[in-house]
Amino acid sequence: MISTRALTYRYQSGPELFFADTEVAQGGVLLLRGASGSGKSTWLALAAGLLTPSSGQITVADQAMQTLSRLASDAWRAKTIGFLPQKLHLSAALTVHENLAMAQWAAGQSQNEDALRHALTALGVDHLAQRKPAQLSGGQAQRVALARAVLLAPKVLLADEPTASLDDESASAALSLLRQTAERASATLVIATHDSRVASFFSGHVNLQTLFCTTQPA
Ligand code: ADP
Ligand code: MG
Repeated sequence: MISTRALTYRYQSGPELFFADTEVAQGGVLLLRGASGSGKSTWLALAAGLLTPSSGQITVADQAMQTLSRLASDAWRAKTIGFLPQKLHLSAALTVHENLAMAQWAAGQSQNEDALRHALTALGVDHLAQRKPAQLSGGQAQRVALARAVLLAPKVLLADEPTASLDDESASAALSLLRQTAERASATLVIATHDSRVASFFSGHVNLQTLFCTTQPA
């Protein structure tokens, strides 16, 4: 479950952003829509505990984010949030396998080879385990990043512009994969996007919420 109330964020040398109140049930889908610069990535960073609200509240999987210390938020994030960032941030020096092992290590878990293989297999990239990120296609890299995001069975899966620069067919495949992966994990799925294809893809989804970000105060 995710809920926000009177949430704002002000960048030190940037705009103040105001977010409309939101409530998403566990297992639901939230689309963050709005023009470029409207605050979608900022909302994701607030939900992940990477930024602290300037005012208001955001509660994610029963945790009130505004009360988490920096250190506590790192541990909480690792076990609660799966993040598919716009820039995938796979470590170039590490293999696919090592990138996932690193995520387990960062979450304070000892290496769990079964879980790691299971995540890679579920995303159809098990055969790429020994490759380095530079040896992957864009679509393969996205699958690997998604495998890493869901490796620890997160309660919440956040994806930032997952269809940016994809053609229609690949965009639809990426969205199906996100939806399936979230459903399998019973995770709440949040997608930040300015791509109208995403809203079309999810239209009719039973548990869909949309938050339109704007730079105007609510
Ligand atoms: P979106 O993801 O919808 O494109 P962002 O959340 O990235 O929007 O940015 C919202 C606004 O905050 C934009 O005006 C952007 O320029 C500004 N912004 C983002 N990051 C920073 C930062 N680190 N410092 C100052 N301003 C920022
Ligand atoms: Mg963004």
